[in-house]
Parts: sequence; C-alpha cells; structure tokens
Amino acid sequence: MSAPAVDVESRVRAEVDRSRQDLVDIRRDLHRHPELSHEEARTAQVAAERAAALGFAVRQGVGEHGVIADLDSGRPGPVLMLRADMDALPVLERDDGRRVRSEVDGVMHACGHDGHVAMALGAASALAAMQDAWSGRVRLCFQPAEERAEGAVPMIEAGAADGVDRVLGIHLWAPLQTGRVAITPGVLFGSADSFTLTVRGRGGHGGMPHTTVDPVVAAAQIIVALQTIVSRETSPFAPAVITLGKIAGGTTFNVIADTVDIAGTVRALEQSERERLLRRIDEVASGVAASMRAEAVFVHTAGCPPVVSDPGVAAVVRDAAIATVGEDNVDVAQPVTVGDDVACFLERARGCYFLVGAGHPEKGRVAPHHSADFDIDEACLPVGMETLVRAALAMLR
Ligand SMILES: [Zn+2]
Ligand SMILES: [Zn+2]
Repeated sequence: MSAPAVDVESRVRAEVDRSRQDLVDIRRDLHRHPELSHEEARTAQVAAERAAALGFAVRQGVGEHGVIADLDSGRPGPVLMLRADMDALPVLERDDGRRVRSEVDGVMHACGHDGHVAMALGAASALAAMQDAWSGRVRLCFQPAEERAEGAVPMIEAGAADGVDRVLGIHLWAPLQTGRVAITPGVLFGSADSFTLTVRGRGGHGGMPHTTVDPVVAAAQIIVALQTIVSRETSPFAPAVITLGKIAGGTTFNVIADTVDIAGTVRALEQSERERLLRRIDEVASGVAASMRAEAVFVHTAGCPPVVSDPGVAAVVRDAAIATVGEDNVDVAQPVTVGDDVACFLERARGCYFLVGAGHPEKGRVAPHHSADFDIDEACLPVGMETLVRAALAMLR
C-alpha cells in the first residue's frame, strides 16, 4: 500500500470517530421532532444549517422542503449526489420507556429517515474535512415526502439532478443486524404506485334495486376480479402485489349509493410488469363494471419505478462496505416489494441504493418498519457514514 493510501485510510477512521457523537445527536434531535411528508420545514432547516456550517453552498425550497447542498473540490471530476430522505410517518410511537421518543403525538420516525439525514451529514463532514483527497463535486440531496413517493419528482423538476453523474443512498434496515451491509446489483425495491377507482352506478331506494345500478355490488365484483390479475395472469416467478387498502361508499342501510371509491397500491419488480398491472387493473375494473351496467373510472394518482442499482456502482459500494465491516458482514439483499422514490434519481444517473443493518441483535423480534415499535440501533450510523465516505472517495476521482 502506498503512503498516501495509508494516510487516507487513517483519515477516514479518524473522521468517523470524530463524528460518532454528532451522528447520534442529529438523529436524536430529528427523532424527537418528526415531521410528516410535505411538512419537513424544521428538518430541512437543520440539514441546511449543518451543511452550510461545513462549507457547502445550500439551496433550500427545492421542490417544497427539499435541500440541495454542493461542495466543489475545485478540481474537475464527477458530480456525486448523496441522497437522504427526511420525512416521518403518521404513527404513534410506543411508550415503552425508550430513551429517545417522538415529542409529537401521532408522528414518528418509524422508517429510519432520521438516521438517513444524520449519516448524510456525517459523510458530508468527513468529505469536507478531506477535500484535498477527492475531485469533482459532492451534492447533498435532502428529500421530502418519500413515504408518499411525492418528493423526488418535484426536486428533479426544480433541477436537483441536473449535472449529477452518480447517486448514492442508504436505507437503514431493521431486519438486518447492525454491523451488516447489504448491496444488490440490479433491483432492490419494487415500483410503488397508487390509484383510485371510482365505481359509478345510479342510486335509489334500497327496496327497489331493479330501478337502480348498485355500485356497491359492482365494487364487490371488481375487488374479487382484481385478485385474479396476480393469481392467474402473473408468473409465480415475478413478484407482484395489488392491495386495495380503502373502500368507501354509501350513507345508510336502505339507500343505494351513486358511487363507491376504492383506493389501492401496486408493487412490481420490473418496469414492464408495473405497466402491465396498472393497465390490467383499469381493464378488469372497467370490464366488470360494464357487465353490471356501472362504470369504473381508473386514476393513477402517484408512483415511482423500481429502485435499480447499477452493477458497477454497486461493486464500488460493496468494496467500501467490505473495508468498513469486513467481507463476512456484507450480504446481497433479496429484492423487497416496498417502494422508494430514490428510484427517480437512479433513473437519471447511475447509482446504488443499499441497506445498512439497524436491528438490535439482543432484542429478539425485530419491529417492522412503519410500526409503533420500530427502533434502530444507533451503532448503525457510523457504519453507514463510513461506507458512504469510502464509496464517495472511490468514485470522486
Ligand atoms: Zn418507509
Ligand atoms: Zn423509508
């Protein structure tokens, strides 16, 4: 190993050690003050102030509460985005005596995004301190509204991804033990789309159904028919989910309603499957409704494509993770049918989204993401930060 490499190695370790307390402090501050999607004003302010203090040029209000912060090495090279999402969830955190708990009733960082912001700021601090050791530009991207898949596109429309060559991002992952890192070349998370179906009939007297077109019965048939898209039309080897999470219609027992509203979500691992599922939901719902003299209006309300990591960038991250936690602690993650709109950035520039273990090994049952019991082992934060820093240094040449 050459002398400068040894120097970089020891500097990375020193920077991670120097940041340990900061990582915990930032994460705890954000955990106590969670903000829902589209409401991340305070979180954005914390991220912006910290980035500015490190010497980054900060732009706030990039697509709502989005924050972009750039640090230029002064030498030509690639532009690398480090993306962290900021929003919390409408979940009441369990009051089980935990030391760090949300101070906002009914709002909780139940997905680990508090840690994502902390790790990105930690990596930013190390890269700022080691500015002589890399070339190009680092762009921090603090993204709002990930949980609703509504944050990335407005940021991209506001120019957040312009000129970006590579993207790195972490999702903390409670099912994975702290001290482990999982990287997948290719698809990590599926697509996530939401839609509504409005079933229109013709209301009337509950005692004289023959004079009406009953949308409740039509909706019931549609719900059952939609189950066959996955069970009868989709390969057992192609993971796909159609969930109808909400149905609303009618006012009382003896009145046949005019309309019934259904809302649902679609998950797939392939873009072509995603498009097929959305098209078939529309076709099946319309066809079944028509057979019952009703009408079904399909509206695709929001969505993001699958999260796909570039194999080349994933290999760089894998080397960074091995240097951080050792080869025995680096896994290949199986794809999961959750979504993340980091996918929209990864469509624009090659990159890698990877999982950093955040599970408490001593706690037995791991509380799932989005649950009131969710918790991270804060020892995961330096692992994520170090992997990010090492990968960034390898890419910024
Ligand atoms: Zn989530
Ligand atoms: Zn999340």
